[in-house]
Amino acid sequence: MNSNIEFREGLDELAGHYRYVLQLLGENPDREGLEKTPMRVAKAMQVLTRGYTQDPHKVLTDALFAEEYNQMVIVKDIDFFSMCEHHMLPFYGKAHVAYIPNGHITGLSKVARVVDIFSHRLQVQERLTQQIKDCIQDTLHPLGTMVVVEAKHMCMQMRGIEKQNSITTTSAFSGAFNQAKTREEFMNLVHSNTMRG
Ligand SMILES: [Zn+2]
Repeated sequence: MNSNIEFREGLDELAGHYRYVLQLLGENPDREGLEKTPMRVAKAMQVLTRGYTQDPHKVLTDALFAEEYNQMVIVKDIDFFSMCEHHMLPFYGKAHVAYIPNGHITGLSKVARVVDIFSHRLQVQERLTQQIKDCIQDTLHPLGTMVVVEAKHMCMQMRGIEKQNSITTTSAFSGAFNQAKTREEFMNLVHSNTMRG
């Protein structure tokens, strides 16, 4: 996979800055183990922030199908990895997305792509949740959209601020999901263990 990645402008400059960061952290960037680290980190950071160059709305509009189905469509357990914008440390977990079509549906894999694009930007979990919801609501114009994100934050866990393994849950919803009963139906389906290993 890695060989297919096109790196963005500024890669060398970014690597140069990471070399300086290593020095400031008290390391010797010229020692053997660290020689290639600045460039590796620069490349990794470009991959982890590739969402800035991708358009999640276009992903959905490119795969829009007219369809009369109007029951809840659920894509659950979408694995994601993101970085918090406060510490640039990972937070990761699962996203669950539901919408009730209003004449249009999209490919199930496209919903996962939307999660992927927004999570490959510097984020806070609340905004990530909201952006996924808004993107689906604004492109598919469904009767309602709901997104639940469950995540572990390394910035909390590694710095000892939060108990190990605690999970933060956020949700955002619109339209039909304003009804508690509809949200409940979704949450029951998310937490049913039929497909979980
Ligand atoms: Zn943080």
